[in-house]
Amino acid sequence: MTPWLAAARAVGVEIAGRHADDVDARGRFPAEALSALKERALLGLLVPASEGGPGAGIADVVVICHELGRHCASTAMIYAMHQIQVACLVRHAGGNPWLRAFIRRLASEQLLLASATSEAGVGGDVRSSVCALDERRGRFALTKQAPVISYAEPCDAILVTARRTPQSPPSDQMLAVVLRADADLQAREVWNTLGMRGTCSNGYRLAAEGEIAQILQVPYADISAQTMLPTSHLVWSALWLGIAGEALSRARAFVRAEAKRKPGVPPIGAARLAEAMGELQSMKGELLACLRQYEAAAGSGDALSALPFALAMNNLKILSSQKVVSIVGQAMLICGLEGYRSDSPFSIGRLLRDAHSAVVMVNNDRIVANNAGLALALRDDPELLA
Ligand SMILES: Cc1cc2nc3c(=O)[nH]c(=O)nc-3n(C[C@H](O)[C@H](O)[C@H](O)COP(=O)(O)OP(=O)(O)OC[C@H]3O[C@@H](n4cnc5c(N)ncnc54)[C@H](O)[C@@H]3O)c2cc1C
Repeated sequence: MTPWLAAARAVGVEIAGRHADDVDARGRFPAEALSALKERALLGLLVPASEGGPGAGIADVVVICHELGRHCASTAMIYAMHQIQVACLVRHAGGNPWLRAFIRRLASEQLLLASATSEAGVGGDVRSSVCALDERRGRFALTKQAPVISYAEPCDAILVTARRTPQSPPSDQMLAVVLRADADLQAREVWNTLGMRGTCSNGYRLAAEGEIAQILQVPYADISAQTMLPTSHLVWSALWLGIAGEALSRARAFVRAEAKRKPGVPPIGAARLAEAMGELQSMKGELLACLRQYEAAAGSGDALSALPFALAMNNLKILSSQKVVSIVGQAMLICGLEGYRSDSPFSIGRLLRDAHSAVVMVNNDRIVANNAGLALALRDDPELLA
């Protein structure tokens, strides 16, 4: 076990898990867990050694998201969303001195990054923007009607998508780093949802200004295909696997307790537990296969932009988001009323509610529609071990 995973496990067990029900019930930011992750320097994990970070890889982040997902899904999702932004910056900042200095600050000050891609008018189509970068005298200004920005208030910076210029088409997007201190956030929709309540994903009118150097010079189309999309699907799938694993831990404990209570009588839920373990195994197998695929492609922009790679990463998201709901549902059946209750050690309710966010967190129908186009363009792949 890496020291980073050990530190994340301690945060999960001792802090995130302890506050998870309160975070959920009050829909509040999991401040204790995020402070603890910050204290243990886990926010800057992906920052390379040349910029003052430990230079960990995506696999290190994936295992931490999985671990945190077992204890508090909101904490895990915040950590995952933050690391997606860090991965984009680290990979696509190039030689831009402002961005390189910001990455160094990220490691030294353990800054927390949020994201504003969704927008009123385009919904969940993250590859379209209404808002545009307005450049004047070496600075930019933007205004975005953002229906959802998770943890916008406590974050240190927000990575915002916008059209390159007010004349650009919706898909000609760039990504800009907006410092929280420079952002005017006017509250709109309040985040009062079924699950993932601690992500505090409220809606805002976001208005901001900054230096031109705060805009990543790589088109967002490439950032999205090569980094944002694959890393999102990996880290989300990892934390959903954590939720599913935790549900089955509770179900196993329930079945064991039943077996102890009635020795000699096979517990009724044991067969269903075995079946659900099989589903968990396939969910884990798919995640690990895609993680290896990402690691193998990471050195090449062409490999990361290839159609089969995009299809595989999209399928990972679709499969994991469906399996987490199915597995947690199986756990609920196994535990019965004890799982349905909110005050029992076998309670499954929060896990089930958090799990249901997975299919809408970039709507599966939208991803399936993208896949439909990709699938038609693909050549047959008859090789098993290519
Ligand atoms: C916990 C959580 C945190 C989030 N945090 C952030 C954040 O920090 N920043 C941010 O920018 N966003 C965030 N989001 C928003 C997220 O990225 C998606 O934009 C959002 O969940 C999509 O919502 P939607 O399904 O209503 O929108 P849409 O994708 O617009 O879908 C609306 C409807 O249209 C249907 N639909 C859409 N496209 C198609 C298609 N091609 N074919 C068929 N049907 C289609 C869908 O089924 C759905 O019924 C968050 C979401 C969640 C759940």
